[in-house]
Amino acid sequence: MADTEQDPTYKRVMLKISGEALMGDQGYGLHPPTVERIAKQVQSVHEMGVEICMVIGGGNIFRGLAGSAQGMERTTADYMGMLATVMNALAMQAALEGLGVYTRVISAITMNEVAEPYIRRRAVRHLEKKRVCIFAAGTGNPYFTTDTAATLRANEMACEAIFMGKNGVDGVYDKDPKTNPDAKRYDTVSYDEVLQKNLKVMDASAIALARDNHKPIIVFPLDDPNGFRGILQGKGAHTLVKG
Ligand code: UDP
Repeated sequence: MADTEQDPTYKRVMLKISGEALMGDQGYGLHPPTVERIAKQVQSVHEMGVEICMVIGGGNIFRGLAGSAQGMERTTADYMGMLATVMNALAMQAALEGLGVYTRVISAITMNEVAEPYIRRRAVRHLEKKRVCIFAAGTGNPYFTTDTAATLRANEMACEAIFMGKNGVDGVYDKDPKTNPDAKRYDTVSYDEVLQKNLKVMDASAIALARDNHKPIIVFPLDDPNGFRGILQGKGAHTLVKG
């Protein structure tokens, strides 16, 4: 219990996870025990009093680029990808509420029966009331990704940092650590180096948006049950991307 008393390093954060993080070992779709495991990490950070925004991708269900590669019109395929993120957001909402954490799913595409529309000031109020805000349907625009959505909402919500939870890695490496045993993890790296070397953090438009708004990005291991909470307590392996 003692560590719960330590002040977190950030008071309001954005957590971005890919849709694939929710599929477990299944290779597709949603794996409820995996969703619950991530929800527990969010719950433990919520218990620290940190205000939490979340964006979840849709790659476990549908990606626009994959659809368009198979001949589908890109815009339609992207809207399908955005709808996939809504399913993931609802699954995360159910898991969090099952743990007693109040949440709101806020959609960039209006669908009043399942989610609130995005109204910035209302979302800020939810955060002040300690509700976890799960932003769904990306930016609401095709040709973007949920990395950009996470950065955009982090800017709008005045989050102090963007937490990128990754499976199988504890930060950003100079080479793929799975195939290069001598790969080195960066403790800190600049936005420009990430862009120049095409390091695996976020897509380039999202990195540029974070850089232009001085929003730190923290890449951390999502498969460590204490990863998210640990970093807010100043411990645990991660990479900090900053200017
Ligand atoms: N998407 C989009 N606009 C957005 C966010 C997402 O068109 O603002 C679509 C896009 O087709 C993308 C899909 O939704 O491939 C799923 O999002 P993403 O690929 O970012 O998911 P992740 O890789 O994080 O699981």
